[in-house]
Amino acid sequence: MTATVIDGKEFAARVRAKVADHVTRLKDENGITPGLAVVLVGEDPASQVYVRSKGKMTVEVGMNSFVHKLDVNTSEEDLLALIEKLNNDPAVHGILCQLPLPKHLDEDLIINSISPAKDVDGFHISNVGLLGTGQKSMVPCTPLGCLMMLRDHHGSISGMNAVVIGRSNIVGKPMAQLLLHDSATVTIAHSRTKDLADVVRAADIVVAAVGRPEMVPGDWIKQGATVIDVGINRIDAPEKGEGKTRLVGDVDYASCAEVAGAITPVPGGVGPMTIACLLANTVTACCRANGLAEPEGLTA
Ligand code: NAP
Repeated sequence: MTATVIDGKEFAARVRAKVADHVTRLKDENGITPGLAVVLVGEDPASQVYVRSKGKMTVEVGMNSFVHKLDVNTSEEDLLALIEKLNNDPAVHGILCQLPLPKHLDEDLIINSISPAKDVDGFHISNVGLLGTGQKSMVPCTPLGCLMMLRDHHGSISGMNAVVIGRSNIVGKPMAQLLLHDSATVTIAHSRTKDLADVVRAADIVVAAVGRPEMVPGDWIKQGATVIDVGINRIDAPEKGEGKTRLVGDVDYASCAEVAGAITPVPGGVGPMTIACLLANTVTACCRANGLAEPEGLTA
């Protein structure tokens, strides 16, 4: 079998087009422009790239982008004061604090100071609790993107066996909750899981969110299973020239694609969906804040 490639780049473009349509409607019919505030503390190069591309895409879908770049030595007090200001700003519907924060800042404290209604990353403890109890919440962007692709590919995932490899708060755990809400039978695997290969072999859906380059080989994958590769790992690529690198996922793409029914590539799979879902969450937050109907298909 050669797997169908689930094209996250193309899917993300469709999600962004839907968001842009809804933004136009909000402007024309309600005089409201959704706004996303992104806070970056320090100069981590990867974070700078992410923040730049989030700002660019926010503007491209017609929303207001407010980027706050703070010095690496910013005090907790000053950061909390900025978040409080953004919480109270009616032009801001979504707030995102780019992680990781410098070590002297308490990440949990900062995230939990964001108004849950504006927490478009879905990391606030209230949103975690709402998601866990099946209530309306802001859903973390990466697992939301994975869910959208799975729903699109399968229609329904009810009754399917899903294995999520990884139990982080930002990917693994919320992913498992979302799959469970869609009535999949869910197993969460992690570094202490015994006989991981056998666990994965039982899965109709495998979501790999481990952070280990090409860890999952094709002979762990059940014939016809759907493989969602969340991993983004940079590895050496001497074949491209000295000092060159390339991105790979957490699954060995070539061998998995031979047995899987469908697979997301890296790059061009889950990655582009994450920012698209951030924009989707912002428009959803804006509609909720204004008591307006939410766009369909842009949340869980
Ligand atoms: P993380 O917080 O480091 O969590 C990794 C998880 O993998 C942990 O639960 C860990 O288990 C588990 N794990 C580690 N080694 C394992 C092994 N040998 N066997 C089974 N499980 C193992 O990572 P994360 O933030 O969830 O991110 C995971 C990957 O997704 C990374 O490559 C990251 O770059 C990528 N990512 C991509 C996007 C995107 O937009 N595409 C967004 C977020 C993250 P323990 O809990 O037992 O330690």
